[in-house]
Amino acid sequence: MEDNIEKILWTENEISERVTELGSQITRDFKSETVAAAAAPAIVGVATGAFVFVADLVRKIHLPIPVDFIRVGSYGSGTISNAHPTISSSFQLKLDIRGLHVILVEDIVDTGNTLSCLIDYMKSKGASSVSVCTLLDKPARRKVHFELVGEGKYYCGFECPDYFVVGYGMDFGEIYRNLPYVGVLKPEIYKS
Ligand code: 5GP
Ligand code: MG
Ligand code: MG
Repeated sequence: MEDNIEKILWTENEISERVTELGSQITRDFKSETVAAAAAPAIVGVATGAFVFVADLVRKIHLPIPVDFIRVGSYGSGTISNAHPTISSSFQLKLDIRGLHVILVEDIVDTGNTLSCLIDYMKSKGASSVSVCTLLDKPARRKVHFELVGEGKYYCGFECPDYFVVGYGMDFGEIYRNLPYVGVLKPEIYKS
């Protein structure tokens, strides 16, 4: 598996340091007066890609937070984004998020379609604010502008160059999620 990596973009240590910073930032923001009523936020991870990030991030947030996951229509095994993501009907939120400050946790924001769909969904379920915390953001590929809800904030680990990346939860054909770093595959792997 590791022989198929052409280059590493962020090492395990670099990710770990950044995740610690993001957790501290969220802890500070949601403890202080910056969010009205300063209630602890509900963490909603976007399955499957965000599972590693969620696991690391929540342990760096020092607040009493509920954690849940949601699933949306995905890439399948390719590298082309789904322009019309749908919320999986068999993988619904367990939490009632009405009146809660939600932080959507994503692996990577690419076109923005997935987040835009999820933000609308959280709003329709009565979240009082919707924030986003993504490990990576690929601004070069943005197609859809999304708006946070209420006093929602945007947290981003790293700006990602325009590559299809794998590792730290992110897959190609459901493989590579368990790499501890984020990297790019050798071009022949994407073609095969
Ligand atoms: P969007 O809807 O913003 O185009 O894409 C969002 C989803 O597509 C991400 O949550 C992620 O699961 C997947 N995705 C986007 N870019 C990449 C990438 O470079 N690598 C991998 N493995 N998945 C990606
Ligand atoms: Mg994702
Ligand atoms: Mg995928």
